Amino acid sequence: MIYTVPCPSCGAPVSFRSAASVMAVCGYCRASLVREADAVRDIGKMAEAMEDYSPIQITTSGVWNNRPFGVVGRLQLRYDDGGWNEWYLVFEDGGTGWLGDASGQYTIMLDQGALPAPAFGDLRPGQAFNHAGASFIVADLRTARCTGGAGELPFAVGQGWEARVVDLRAGERFLTLDYSDADPPRAYLGQAVTLDALKCQLLRSDDAILKGAGRLRGTIVNLACPGCGAPLTFPAGVATQLVCPACGTRSDATGDQAVLIEKHQAQEQVSTPLALGDQAKIDGTEYSLIGRLRCQETGEPATWTEYLLYNARQGFLWLVESEEGWDKVRVQDIWPETSGDSVVLDGTRYEKLYDYGSEVIHAAGAFNWRVKVGDRVEITDWQAGEKKLGRETSAAEITWSMAESVSAETVGKWFSKTLGGKPQGLSTTRGDTAELAKLAVRYSLIVLFLNVPIALAGGIENWILVILAVGLLWWPIISKNTQEE
Ligand SMILES: [Zn+2]
Ligand SMILES: [Zn+2]
Repeated sequence: MIYTVPCPSCGAPVSFRSAASVMAVCGYCRASLVREADAVRDIGKMAEAMEDYSPIQITTSGVWNNRPFGVVGRLQLRYDDGGWNEWYLVFEDGGTGWLGDASGQYTIMLDQGALPAPAFGDLRPGQAFNHAGASFIVADLRTARCTGGAGELPFAVGQGWEARVVDLRAGERFLTLDYSDADPPRAYLGQAVTLDALKCQLLRSDDAILKGAGRLRGTIVNLACPGCGAPLTFPAGVATQLVCPACGTRSDATGDQAVLIEKHQAQEQVSTPLALGDQAKIDGTEYSLIGRLRCQETGEPATWTEYLLYNARQGFLWLVESEEGWDKVRVQDIWPETSGDSVVLDGTRYEKLYDYGSEVIHAAGAFNWRVKVGDRVEITDWQAGEKKLGRETSAAEITWSMAESVSAETVGKWFSKTLGGKPQGLSTTRGDTAELAKLAVRYSLIVLFLNVPIALAGGIENWILVILAVGLLWWPIISKNTQEE
């Protein structure tokens, strides 16, 4: 039974289609109206959601587990690393749920009510938590703020509302503990879905998104670096955390402009066989190289390079170049199950290889999280034949990925480049030395040009000064080469 009231702020009709809806946002003046007995109370204006290229809208419908649903409300949330939407669903049978959309990764979650659980501050990535007959592992912890909303919602959301959520995983199952308004938290249980599997109707058309945003999610766009003005290239709405390759400035390009996070981060310059902007054709799909990381094993000299590639339909792909060769790496949507020292995925047992730490020593380009030099993660690798599973644990999250070894020749074919036999992952300083040598030659000539006439006119002390000045210019190169041998 649809309940409709005139908006107390502007008089436009506002509908509550679900009896479970506690609040509705006036579509005309954006007043947030909380339903109380036979009246509504205006608790202030709700901001309009920022354009984020989501194809879902209020009125979108679909079917999940044979249960038809309609989208009746929206919450848009943001945290440091990015943002996501929670679309509020009302099923035909009267039930409710949430369709989460994080840059094109979708989940459907159902409310389980309050659940006794450790306090928000006591949970860490990797911790186990038993629920519904499964051992869930804490995947990430986030504090996000509401940046906009629309339609009907099952609770009142005011200006500056903050969500504190913990995501847990068990195989294909997702569990979210929501500490926003209560302790113990509210639990939501669900799984990953695709819009195709949901048979979604009344999605926003590409034309409508283009009209609203000027482009589609994943379109490669350019913005000026807020530090130096150099063009920064990234896929819109997907990888919006930018590190300027020219000046090291970090910025966030979630909106229309690159917003400064940190200026001129000093970092090591590296030369790598693959560069930002390189195009590759991998297994028939065109990828753009959008980000590059150089990492170092904690407390060890070993370094390696990680390249982030993107395709609008296939999403992200990593290529890792190390002393051992090249690996093609994808983040795992389905987590393996732990059994003693080994892990099992799709019936295959992976044996543990080693634990080590990794630190970012260079970053450039676009990423889907706020990467910076000095970021550290703990890594554990497992192996089964040619395949390797890796688990990365940081203070805020855990990710699992699958690596497959590929030959340098194959990588070369993908990029239409010839890649030298031995990967260059470990020879950072060689490139630097060549650059420094060029500069040293140039400045030596300047020093000699300016000082030789003076030295000729003076005594032996002037000659010593000239030799010292030239020696100082060459010292970093001589010392670096000595260290490398
Ligand atoms: Zn109104
Ligand atoms: Zn810059």
